[in-house]
Amino acid sequence: MLIDGHGRTVNYLRVSVTERCNFRCQYCMPEKPFSWVPKENLLSFEELFLFMKVAMDEGVNKIRITGGEPLLREDLDTFIKMIHDYKPDIDLALTTNAYLLPEVAQRLKDAGLKRLNISLDSLKPDVAHKIAQKDVLAKVLKGIDRALEVGLGVKINMVPLKGINDDEILDIMDYCKERNIKVRFIEYMENRHADETLRGMHGREILDKVKERYTIHALGREGTSPSFNYTIEETGYEFGLIDPHKHDFCENCNRIRLTAEGNLIPCLYFDEAMSIAESVKKGDIQGAANVLAQVLKEKPKENRWSEENPNEEKDVSSRAFYETGG
Ligand code: SAM
Ligand code: SF4
Repeated sequence: MLIDGHGRTVNYLRVSVTERCNFRCQYCMPEKPFSWVPKENLLSFEELFLFMKVAMDEGVNKIRITGGEPLLREDLDTFIKMIHDYKPDIDLALTTNAYLLPEVAQRLKDAGLKRLNISLDSLKPDVAHKIAQKDVLAKVLKGIDRALEVGLGVKINMVPLKGINDDEILDIMDYCKERNIKVRFIEYMENRHADETLRGMHGREILDKVKERYTIHALGREGTSPSFNYTIEETGYEFGLIDPHKHDFCENCNRIRLTAEGNLIPCLYFDEAMSIAESVKKGDIQGAANVLAQVLKEKPKENRWSEENPNEEKDVSSRAFYETGG
């Protein structure tokens, strides 16, 4: 079992397979970064997998593939199959913008993928275009339909932004309810890479929007999930709120993140990371295990997106979401 320096059990590894993306979401990667990580610095699937085996052997039982846009990485289904074949009962999921999903959903499912989280910030073509800076909506919706058709589990992620898509919270909820899928509203997390004019909605403001139409009841956090769940009295529909600005958000944090170039990141907010690249390139399993142990020891107690002063200098992370995978 993996235990961090604050006594929390860590059983969840998020693996970013690329920082590149085919969208330019204003809250994540509004412009193409000045320089991408050179392709030769990316770890191969075999190298990533060597570390993942170490982590799985030590107690990781949940893995999420993310990015950038993970579907941009060639032969992703082969990677999924490697993980699935090693531990068929692993909770194996992927986060994607769904743009390329119509073509690959069946292959991912056949390779052993169980669940998808799909980002859907708007149901209006012009608003989706404004957020992603590309005409994306039709393909994203097709991707969601295809994922459901092939039998993949689907959850939707929406990041509500003031003056942009804050009037669509109930519409996105209706869309998800009609398809019997869960939506999780994510508080915008301030970071230096995002468009600095953006203003996110706090959890309580998101809930206020829902309360304009419905009566809601709090269900609580789902195990170690970052999502705080609510149910709607009138319809019985359940939705989630991911609220990293709330002071108790980090209490049960169970995750670490691995980037495509092999940096192991203990917390989404902070810059600290340790590289496993050298170890896995040499096939040094003990070296990789030592880095893992050190990262767990140094995992911070909590992030610094405080509820009180979300826009103060100290509360803006310098980590890029497209690098860590969210
Ligand atoms: N490209 C994929 C996608 O968009 O789903 C996977 C990577 S993306 C970085 C993972 C998640 O992070 C998405 O749900 C996205 O909405 C979320 N995200 C990115 N930047 C964010 C920010 N500044 N605040 C809150 N969530 C963010
Ligand atoms: Fe790309 Fe996802 Fe970031 Fe949007 S949120 S720019 S789709 S990585």
